[in-house]
Amino acid sequence: MTMDKANLLSSDAGGGLTAHRGHARRTPQERPLVFASTASRSSRPGEPAPERDVRLRPASAPAFGKHEDMNTTYEIRAIEPEVLDQLRDRDDAGNPPRLLVDEEGGSPLRCCLRPIRPGEKVALVSYAPLRRWAAATDAEPGPYDEVGPVFIHPQPCQGPEKKGFPNALAGPRRVLRAYAPDGRILGGRLVEPDPSGQTRPAETTLTELFTDPQVALVHIRAVEFGCFLFEARRPG
Ligand SMILES: [Zn+2]
Repeated sequence: MTMDKANLLSSDAGGGLTAHRGHARRTPQERPLVFASTASRSSRPGEPAPERDVRLRPASAPAFGKHEDMNTTYEIRAIEPEVLDQLRDRDDAGNPPRLLVDEEGGSPLRCCLRPIRPGEKVALVSYAPLRRWAAATDAEPGPYDEVGPVFIHPQPCQGPEKKGFPNALAGPRRVLRAYAPDGRILGGRLVEPDPSGQTRPAETTLTELFTDPQVALVHIRAVEFGCFLFEARRPG
């Protein structure tokens, strides 16, 4: 199954799942994010949320690849096993999971942080990443809360093979959204892949975002549909 096919389902305002017709319908969350040089920009009518540029301090950022498996700036988080168990019974939109066999594979599994293998059994569920994060913190994301479709294994699984940034889900293009400790969105970055393959721009950008002390959480998302892939938090 391709990413496009995987994302023909998306949440509507009521939290239920509705079928899309191709790529025609887009929610506000799916529009491209542009955050460059927005320090003095006020929000425009119709924008989903006030945003600001996340200031970067590349000079203080760790060198690329320095902390691939033991990053002290952030930790990569797949969906927690206990949350997966809940989603397998009833998802964050209140629906039972949709079970299917993905003959083509390729879409990201949010439990194991790797692509689906051809012929693998998967479950499609609605997931509210900010709401789940807030439940374990003092955050109150309020209107920033959103629900979207994700693939997970339909049975308990082993989770990611290793800690650190899941390179299998690093590209081709990603949006990184940064959130404050109270759940407000702070800004985001659009990440293009390195054509040479010599660097990992998504990983580097993630490290840069966490140089802002206000950043508590970053969502890594697909670009075209805005689907949540995984998150990074400060350790502890
Ligand atoms: Zn899994």
